[in-house]
Amino acid sequence: MQKQLLPFYHHLIIIIFTFFTLQIEAEPLKEQLFTEQKDQQILPLKNICSGSPWANIVWIHVHDDEETAREVALQTLSHLQQGCLLDLQHGGSRDIYVQNADISYHFDPNRIFTQQGRQEAIKCDDGDCRLAMPELTQAVEQLISQYLQYAQLIVAVHNNHAHGLSILHYANGSAGANDTLQTAINPQQNPHNFFLVTSRQAYEFLSKRGFNVILQDNDQVQDDGSLSVWAAHKKIDYINIEAERGHNANQVEMLHAVWAYMQTYYLK
Ligand SMILES: [Zn+2]
Repeated sequence: MQKQLLPFYHHLIIIIFTFFTLQIEAEPLKEQLFTEQKDQQILPLKNICSGSPWANIVWIHVHDDEETAREVALQTLSHLQQGCLLDLQHGGSRDIYVQNADISYHFDPNRIFTQQGRQEAIKCDDGDCRLAMPELTQAVEQLISQYLQYAQLIVAVHNNHAHGLSILHYANGSAGANDTLQTAINPQQNPHNFFLVTSRQAYEFLSKRGFNVILQDNDQVQDDGSLSVWAAHKKIDYINIEAERGHNANQVEMLHAVWAYMQTYYLK
């Protein structure tokens, strides 16, 4: 009996959750401007909170052009009346562009969390960009010490597009397979909607609920400076929600599963 009721119950929760997420007017969210001791704000970060922050959990949005991910995360926080989203806001582009008196350069903000990643990520546009590395390193270290180093769970929200990244990129024989320990693919799910996680605990929890999930190989993964690699080095539980742009309902459903995971393992 319980087994028969579960799918209905699950759907009912999602419908109610989606309704409230879409219908309830957003509560005012507190924005704390992230400040750096420099003229140039290299990582223009806002910590947007609804109610009180979680002590050990960080939600983060790094690609400013991935609007669905930001919108759904903020709506969800507003509904939950707790938690914060660390949001990089840098003019609506994927890359962050830095320009000062001496140099100009740009980088992908999800390739800067390790030294090796930063070295490869910095793309020089003008001037002597040797100066870029120390100032970017300082900004990243400040971000980490202020927000990430004591996190037990980091949830990153991303979007891809119909012809972009999908879980098939990580399947056997594909480019990302070497970085992957295990992959759960549900053929009934859109391959663009998937989780990438660093813990078997999260892998089991999410794959059992019918989602596409990739378990990163934390020992073999290529150091590209992404947050998942940094989290693996620090042994932090990390969940990346990848959903296709504009698929708000899917992203709501995925965040709802993460909320259930948070309640099971972190907010008891
Ligand atoms: Zn992204």
